[in-house]
Amino acid sequence: MQIVLLGPPGAGKGTQATKICEKYAIPHISTGDMLRQQVASGSPLGNKVKSIMDSGELVTDDVIMQVVEARLSQPDCKNGFLLDGIPRTVAQAESLGTLLLKMGAPKLKVLQINVPDTVLLERIQGRQGQSSRSDDTAEVASKRLKVYWEQTAPVASYYEQRGNLVVLDGVGAVDEVFHRITTALSA
Ligand code: ADP
Repeated sequence: MQIVLLGPPGAGKGTQATKICEKYAIPHISTGDMLRQQVASGSPLGNKVKSIMDSGELVTDDVIMQVVEARLSQPDCKNGFLLDGIPRTVAQAESLGTLLLKMGAPKLKVLQINVPDTVLLERIQGRQGQSSRSDDTAEVASKRLKVYWEQTAPVASYYEQRGNLVVLDGVGAVDEVFHRITTALSA
């Protein structure tokens, strides 16, 4: 199973990704987590992307595609994977398409989790207390949402035009949303 999880920040992608990966025994590839690990390790890449991430902007397509290509070439991705946090731009969707073709991967299942902006901001603000993420402040959260609508929302249309987008309602209990997801994946 090769899955792409799309949705705005706060939509619950991380939570649902963990459950999906457990059920289907596939690796969870989160670009945000991979970048945060780079930042934490103080690697040259981490130092380069830290200020970009803290501002709520996107790191460059080149950088992220290198990170993802390296990850997808690991043996645990042979039988499938879940991508969370990528593609975030139409250019990344195109590069990913080329990469997957090269890997001989069949058609992706693309799931979009929809949640209204008002609910998203409440959720992100709610997790501020618990989150150790330096980009979970109210100000940066609304910036991330703006970047999402400008640069990432078009990715959904990109997959819709190719006939492999499933849109799901992300409002409700975690298990309720998960049930919608597994139903869509088994269809
Ligand atoms: P969120 O929880 O807001 O969806 P992530 O944890 O996925 O955020 O990503 C955090 C930050 O990492 C983003 O705001 C961005 O700066 C950077 N990032 C993650 N994935 C990508 C990507 N595919 N392209 C560009 N930047 C990315």
